Amino acid sequence: MRRGSAARVVHLCFHGIGRPARDLEDGEEPYWITADTYQRVLDEVAGDPRVRLSFDDGNASDLEIGLPALVERGLTATFYVLAARLDRPGSLARGDVRELSRAGMTIGSHGMDHRPWRGLLPAGVRRELVEARAILAEAAGQQVDRAALPLGRYDRRTLGHLRRLGYASVASSDRRWSTDSAWLQPRFSVRSHDTPHSVRREMLTPQPLGQRVRLEAVGLAKRLR
Ligand SMILES: [Zn+2]
Repeated sequence: MRRGSAARVVHLCFHGIGRPARDLEDGEEPYWITADTYQRVLDEVAGDPRVRLSFDDGNASDLEIGLPALVERGLTATFYVLAARLDRPGSLARGDVRELSRAGMTIGSHGMDHRPWRGLLPAGVRRELVEARAILAEAAGQQVDRAALPLGRYDRRTLGHLRRLGYASVASSDRRWSTDSAWLQPRFSVRSHDTPHSVRREMLTPQPLGQRVRLEAVGLAKRLR
């Protein structure tokens, strides 16, 4: 068995919980889960040392529903927040981000405008990867050195920018297992049709070797394109 940072871990990613308090983007609805599903999934994974948790998009539900259930179970998570949505209805306010940080949670950047980071021009790189991070660090009162790729999209140039700008880790949505030492961290998004059972079967159970090899090849192709 492999030990330490090379041990396999499973990143689970949540988006919205409960009822959205803002207009959703196209295709976003399947990523909203009920508070009941969220709490049951947490119960399923609490105490499993392989599991890492994160939240994308900076929805108000991160603080209202996400945080209390984590604290109750002694869990922590990384919250990847969208800088341009701060203080908007349905999204986290700056003070909420500070509260998550004070509760021992890690704040990461999901960029500014929730647009893909593939093909960014220099002004876009500055806005999405530099300015958004600075705004979030200011709100959180902590350094921000983790990023989650908006809509899971990336290519070699995207990752090059993130490396050059000193991000310590980058979260994707590639639905594979990872290791703690991996710089690019695949994650499984929990979606509206998921149950504790499907999470166990599809995410916490090691993928068969053939499937793993296939998914790793897809990831490699994305990194190199
Ligand atoms: Zn997102």
